[in-house]
Amino acid sequence: MKISSEKSQQIFAAAQSLMPGGVNSPARAFGAVGGTPLVIDRGEGAYIYDVDGNQLIDYIQSWGPMILGHKHPAVMESVETALTKGFSFGAPTVGENELAELIIEAVASVEKVRLVNSGTEATMSAIRLARGFTGRDVIVKFAGNYHGHVDSLLVAAGSSAATLAVPDSPGVTAGTSQDTLILTYNHSEEVRQAFEQHGDRIAGVIFEPVVGNMGCVIPDHEFLQTLRDCTTASGALLIFDEVMTGFRLAYGGAQQIWGITPDLTTLGKIVGGGMPIGAYGGRADIMNHILPAGKVFQAGTLSGNPIACAAGSATLRELRDNPPYQQLEEMSLKLASGLQQAAEASGQQCCVQRVGSMMTIFFHPGPVKCWEDAAKSDTEKFGRYFWGMIENGVYLPCSQYEALFVSAAHTEKDIQTTIDAAVNVLAGI
Ligand SMILES: *Cc1c(COP(=O)(O)O)cnc(C)c1O
Repeated sequence: MKISSEKSQQIFAAAQSLMPGGVNSPARAFGAVGGTPLVIDRGEGAYIYDVDGNQLIDYIQSWGPMILGHKHPAVMESVETALTKGFSFGAPTVGENELAELIIEAVASVEKVRLVNSGTEATMSAIRLARGFTGRDVIVKFAGNYHGHVDSLLVAAGSSAATLAVPDSPGVTAGTSQDTLILTYNHSEEVRQAFEQHGDRIAGVIFEPVVGNMGCVIPDHEFLQTLRDCTTASGALLIFDEVMTGFRLAYGGAQQIWGITPDLTTLGKIVGGGMPIGAYGGRADIMNHILPAGKVFQAGTLSGNPIACAAGSATLRELRDNPPYQQLEEMSLKLASGLQQAAEASGQQCCVQRVGSMMTIFFHPGPVKCWEDAAKSDTEKFGRYFWGMIENGVYLPCSQYEALFVSAAHTEKDIQTTIDAAVNVLAGI
């Protein structure tokens, strides 16, 4: 590696004796690309600085939350004010109303919302609610979609056939996952067949309305409409997992751009502005089944945490009052076409898939429409591309199967620097 990484190496070596794999979340260990992760010291706008003093253009942005860039002044100010009042009370605070109101105003399908502490908690609670509300057991999910580490959702079918799922992780029992039905993303016919066969047992369908977690994969309109039609006809709930897409693709989320109304929506990432948070919401008649309004149990000591609410509310207010979406679209379009051209000029078989400020360069000719397609990517080449980009000062998601994020802090110059780096790197791998 050309950039210096002595301190990162030392700290990460120590981390490995302290935490499993040296990390608190597996992707950070760089397992998919090899080598030692950079240990980050601080962030500023579109940049992060590691402990060896390297400055990198950051396209991870904490895996999505930092849509305004690191240390945005309005978010800093809101958090600093909240900090002076104390961290947590386990009692109602006005900050919760503020964030809930912002979410309800922004996301058309959300009439009531419950704040939790992570995206995982949001999806776990939403599927419990779907089951409690419908009195049915089966949840449909799609191979390659990630909904956090909820036991019953930690399943991805090895084949595209509609099968009742086998667990993906040791520790997830067959019993837990037996009510999860795995289908192929963008495959409307499988969805119709699953509802014909199991319709009266299906409580809900959960999916990513633009997938980020197998790289950026875009749903066909027909697929979206089929999900809505089949769930409506059978009385199942349609759950948009907008933990990544919410407030990123548009202020109203993916549901705004696709024009499809879900019954429940899960949120996270941007709604916390970089603090730990999650949320799930939807039709009031469904949400009123949650304790203490209803009987579906869900609780949290730190839920609606005042500091997290302050960071989230400031982020959403900024997105509402100074919408960056046009700028994000322009910067992201420039980046995507620059990457595609760089790939073509270098003779690499690549396709760049993008919606708004989420995108992936697949080392696969494309199009990538489902997990089976994505799995054919040349991940070793991606690893060489990833390290080449780091050496050129660009910090990308450390896996072929993650989307990169452009933030409102990325300037035209940052984008051009990134494209120039890609031209170099792609020509030499
Ligand atoms: C990140 C993510 C989650 C999980 O959120 P955590 O806060 O990491 O628990 C769930 N669903 C999607 C679509 C995500 O991108």
